[in-house]
Amino acid sequence: MTPTVSPQAGRLAVPERDRTSAQIRRFALLWMAASIGVLLSVALASLVASHYRDDATRRARANADAELAVAHLQAQIQGQAANVLGYRSTGEAIYRQQFSAGGRDMRAALAALRQATITAGNHLSDQQLLAGATHDIAAWENAAALELARPHGGQGGLSPAGNPAPNGTVAEITRQLGLLASSLTGETRGARSASRQHAHIADLIREASILVGLMILFAGGVRLLRRAFTLAAEADARRAREARWSNQIEAVMAWSVRAKGAVTRSQLIGFAHMVPREAVGAQCFIVTEGAAPAHPSHGLPRFAIEVDDAGEGLHVSVCFQPERGDEHDHQALDLLLGHLSALWRTVLRQENLERAAGHDALTGLPNRRAFEAELRRRVALSKRRGLGFTLAIVDLDHFKQVNDSFGHPEGDAVLRRAGEGIRESLRTSDRVFRFGGEEFALILETADEGGVADLLERARQAVKALGVAPTPARRLSASIGWAVYPHDADDRAELIALADGALYQAKESGRDRVIRAGRYERLAG
Ligand code: GH3
Ligand code: MG
Ligand code: MG
Repeated sequence: MTPTVSPQAGRLAVPERDRTSAQIRRFALLWMAASIGVLLSVALASLVASHYRDDATRRARANADAELAVAHLQAQIQGQAANVLGYRSTGEAIYRQQFSAGGRDMRAALAALRQATITAGNHLSDQQLLAGATHDIAAWENAAALELARPHGGQGGLSPAGNPAPNGTVAEITRQLGLLASSLTGETRGARSASRQHAHIADLIREASILVGLMILFAGGVRLLRRAFTLAAEADARRAREARWSNQIEAVMAWSVRAKGAVTRSQLIGFAHMVPREAVGAQCFIVTEGAAPAHPSHGLPRFAIEVDDAGEGLHVSVCFQPERGDEHDHQALDLLLGHLSALWRTVLRQENLERAAGHDALTGLPNRRAFEAELRRRVALSKRRGLGFTLAIVDLDHFKQVNDSFGHPEGDAVLRRAGEGIRESLRTSDRVFRFGGEEFALILETADEGGVADLLERARQAVKALGVAPTPARRLSASIGWAVYPHDADDRAELIALADGALYQAKESGRDRVIRAGRYERLAG
């Protein structure tokens, strides 16, 4: 007879909360990776664009340098040619001096042109043009130097046989340099526009990356915010449920403290019924008393407060909504049922004591066991002294409605008051017992038909006088059946059966009445 709490609940799978957090973490990582990718792309595109833009500038400058160097060299060559012609026509030494100074400038100009050619891309065609021009310039300069080294009017040098048209050679050199200049211009222009184009493409890539990045930031932010709001709402709901749980558990404890251990079976069952299923985050919360149900709530998790090997006890079946019932609900339910179980154990202990003491805790009246003993004693006494007595059974009419309308605890209170009312309506020598649920047994001293009928009528009125109205159309009433010993019956069992039969007839014929055993048939017949 040891009550045990046996939680047989199937535990639920991974809570929704954990899945959501994992999703958020994964999404946040993706979001960060995408943002870093966009940032890198923007930085790279910016670098490429500025590289190509610098390149275009450098090439433009190189082109200008090269054109300048060509023009400079051409001017130097023209100057040297003028010195040769001047010396040839006048023979003055000043032209020789100017020629030798001009030579240095001309070589410097040539070196500058070579450098500009390299900077402009160092193309093979340019190198060839430059090499040809350099060779022709050197040849022409050597010939001119030879002529200027001889006394004026001497033979050799550039005229007449060695170079009959020295200016023709100069013209050829000028033509080559012109070709070089236009080649360099073309190349640098092409390269510059290519660089500009590349820079432009890099700019476009950068702008597109910025746009994509902003979109990712915005969309990801919106999604994360939405998730965060959902999580916050879920957390609120969870907190509310947890609060409800602790309220329920506190209510059980407060209630049991108030009851000071004098809790009755029906009070406890009534209380268990009152636990609203929303309060425990469950879809259903079913309480059954007695043997374990064969199919407890269609195979839903069941918690049983069992009493004995036969499975008699208090059974609580709970089903959780899969998305709602979490670990906390289960723990709290265990706690709540632990309290109910402890109270149930107290009730059983109390019932055992009452059984031993012969009293009923709810009404304070002697109980069925005491009734059996008293009946035995009365029958024996009657046999010895030849005194008759009356047994009446009172059953409250439609008492279920009282529980249904006002709840079990109020039903208990009505039972108590009904017991008191009936007790007070009788004489002190008459005994009232709690016979069963809402049934009372009366043992009256008298066996006189008129006296008994009067007394029992008073008892019937006493129940009416409680003024309890389970439905607007009906006041609580009682049906009473009675029989006399030894007039009507030969032994206890027969006496009880007769009184019970009369009670049944009172119920059948419309309730709220008093009927003596055997009288109804006679009246009806
Ligand atoms: P009638 O007797 O008129 O046929 O109707 P009834 O509603 O009284 O029916 P029945 O006798 O079948 O049911 C008795 C009800 O009394 C059932 C049970 O809920 C209630 N009851 C029995 N014992 C207790 C108790 O200790 N406390 C409370 N509150 N109710 C009880
Ligand atoms: Mg009954
Ligand atoms: Mg009844």
